[in-house]
Parts: sequence; C-alpha cells; structure tokens
Amino acid sequence: MLQGLPLVDPSDLRDFVDAVARKTQSAELHYAIKQPQLPASQVQLRRVLALDTIIQRTAVTWQVHGQLVPEPCDNCQSGRGPFTSCVCKDDFMQNRCANCYYSGERCSLERSE
Ligand SMILES: [Zn+2]
Ligand SMILES: [Zn+2]
Repeated sequence: MLQGLPLVDPSDLRDFVDAVARKTQSAELHYAIKQPQLPASQVQLRRVLALDTIIQRTAVTWQVHGQLVPEPCDNCQSGRGPFTSCVCKDDFMQNRCANCYYSGERCSLERSE
C-alpha cells in the first residue's frame, strides 16, 4: 500500500509520481509519463497527497505531465485542491484540471468546451 505523499521537493515529487504511475496497469498513465514534465515551479503541493485511488494517481501524474492552464479554473483561483497551479491535458480527466479531478469536483474548464 502506498503511503500518503509528504510535502517533498518538487523534483523528487516528479520522480516519485513517475514511479507510482509505472506501477499501475493504466495505459493512460504509462502514456502520460512519456509526456514532457512541467517545471518544478508548477508542481507544488498545498498539502499532503493521498495516492490510494487510480483517480488520485491519474490527477497527480497529469499535474506533472500536463499543460498549465493560462487562466486557472474557479476552484484553483479559490485555492482549492492539493496543487498550487491549474493543469489540464487535452481530453483526459473528463476535461477537468488535475486539482478538480483529484478532488472529484466539477471544474469550470468543462464549461469552456
Ligand atoms: Zn484548476
Ligand atoms: Zn478545475
């Protein structure tokens, strides 16, 4: 069983996330970790992360390997979710950002389709 993720150095976090993704059976995550990593400044945590579910693991993997949203979603602007930046990836995560996907929240990015 994986432990909760402590607040670690972002470069360590990125390596950790890739190791977690590799251990899953998810083709999506195996694809995700081949995408370029965001700079460490975009992979900062507000709090300790749980990585028990595939949704949590998917969200954190795309947070590392996704695309920074130029205008953050409503929840990210309000400081909700475990990550300090709003990151999405194409059609993955039900068109939500990683913060909202992680938390199971609706995301204002969904409406901009
Ligand atoms: Zn967001
Ligand atoms: Zn969002």
